[in-house]
Amino acid sequence: MNIGILALQGAFIEHEKMFDKLGISTFEIRKKSDIECEYDAIVIPGGESTVMSKLLNELELYTPLKTRIDQGMPVFGTCAGLILLAKEISNDDTVCFATMDMKVRRNAYGRQLGSFYTEAEFKGIGKIPMTFIRAPYIESVYGDAEALAEVDGHIVAARQGNMLATAFHPELNDDLSVHKYFADIVRKYSGRA
Ligand code: GLN
Repeated sequence: MNIGILALQGAFIEHEKMFDKLGISTFEIRKKSDIECEYDAIVIPGGESTVMSKLLNELELYTPLKTRIDQGMPVFGTCAGLILLAKEISNDDTVCFATMDMKVRRNAYGRQLGSFYTEAEFKGIGKIPMTFIRAPYIESVYGDAEALAEVDGHIVAARQGNMLATAFHPELNDDLSVHKYFADIVRKYSGRA
C-alpha cells in the first residue's frame, strides 16, 4: 500500500509520520506529474483551505485529483482537507472537490481562540484524542454520508464510502487509530484485505 499525501501546504509531514509508524509507505503529491505515480489513496492535510484550493488550481492538480476521488480512490481529509471535500460551506461561497454530502462551517470555533483538545467517541474505534486548530465542524450530513463523531453537539468526523473527513487533527496526537481506520478502507479498496 502506498498513500499519496497532498504536500502543497499545511500539516502533511505529520501524516507521513503516522503512516510510517503503521509500516505504510507514503508519497508526496506536489506537482502534476506526481499524479500519474502509483498510489492507492489520497490524504488532504490540514492547513488553509483557501490557499490549498488556489494552489490545486494553479498547479493543475485539481481536475486529475477530483477524477480519482470520483472514481472511488479513498481520500482522507483533515480540517482544511475536510472543507475541500464538502459539497457545501455555510459561510463561504467557494467549494473545492465537493464530493462529500455534508455542509460544513469554516473557522466554526472562532479564528483565534478556536484551538482546543478533547477526547470523544469515534464510531467503530472508541474514545480517541482530538486536537482542533481553527477547525471547521460539520453542520449536517445527508445522502450517503454518515457522522462518525460528535463534540458538543457538532459533527466532527464523517464517512461516505471511501471518503473520510475529520475536523480535528488525528496526526497531531500519538493515537494511530484513525489512520489505521483509513488504512483498512484503503486495503479493502485495493483488494488486499
Ligand atoms: N481554518 C482553516 C481553513 O479554513 C483550517 C484550519 C486547519 O486546517 N487546521 O482552511
